[in-house]
Amino acid sequence: MGKGIDSVNGISITTSSATYRLDPGRTVMGDCNVVSHAHSDHLPRGGNEQAVVASRETIALARMRTGRDYSAARHPSVKLLDAGHVPGSRMVLVKDDLSYLYTGDFCTKRKVYLHNARPVRTDVLFIESTYGLPKYRFPDPVELAGVIRDWAADTLNNGSSILFSLYPLGKAQEIEVILRGMPLFAEESVARHNSIVFGRDSGWIRPLSEMGGGPGIIISSGRNIYPQIQPQVRRRMLRATASGWSLEGRFSGGYDEAFPLSDHSDYYDLIEFVRRCSPSMVYTVHGFDMELASSIRRELGIEARPLRARREKQRKIDSY
Ligand SMILES: [Zn+2]
Ligand SMILES: [Zn+2]
Repeated sequence: MGKGIDSVNGISITTSSATYRLDPGRTVMGDCNVVSHAHSDHLPRGGNEQAVVASRETIALARMRTGRDYSAARHPSVKLLDAGHVPGSRMVLVKDDLSYLYTGDFCTKRKVYLHNARPVRTDVLFIESTYGLPKYRFPDPVELAGVIRDWAADTLNNGSSILFSLYPLGKAQEIEVILRGMPLFAEESVARHNSIVFGRDSGWIRPLSEMGGGPGIIISSGRNIYPQIQPQVRRRMLRATASGWSLEGRFSGGYDEAFPLSDHSDYYDLIEFVRRCSPSMVYTVHGFDMELASSIRRELGIEARPLRARREKQRKIDSY
């Protein structure tokens, strides 16, 4: 393979000394394979190398989610940095002929859990552009956590239960931390993720099978779990979710409450992050990649263009 950057199999950077594969669809033996986090659109689904550079949590989650026998690798030119997206998520800094920063999915806002992503100086920046339009401005997650907590406490006080439908990796744990101390019950697939993220310390969230007549809070991954819920709980139960997309009212139909709590950076976070990384070249990945690239050129005067990951073919983002 010649020197340079391509997006045939995840993002690859080839220098005179190595090929780095960032979130490859297939791992390649002999190359440096890096996995940013364990959401399914970032996990390798095949390939002949099981040793990957990733955080310990991501390795454990990836093994559970794919059934593949991943193990941890290291590389002297690769550093993992907090991404603030979901448990175990990391940005990837490669220092070779140039410095390259790949954000993966990331969030710069401070949250009630996880360390937020922070900018570092880099020559080349690959940045996710999921919410790359100026209409996306998210509220402060810590303030929003207070709103969610108050709403949940009021609902329980009124004798009603709550069914939260959430991504089982990330959103589920964030809501659980926000509501810690309340009667929380996790559906099975959420519980499997909890046991890796919280380890032995997950006893404050009980299995759904232990929920009596309520009121309580059910954390589910959004599948139909009604048959597992007691009829007297179902009769007095509000449905809720949390996602950045709820700003657009996408969830207005099925839910009593949809909180705009996002695991991603909003447009203003993205622009500020690029400014502070001070790169000479930016590649945008995912979502509104064209639009964010043109905003970066216009607002910051920095060269930017989309790097379309062909394996994803603009698959609907956030569909993990
Ligand atoms: Zn993700
Ligand atoms: Zn993603």
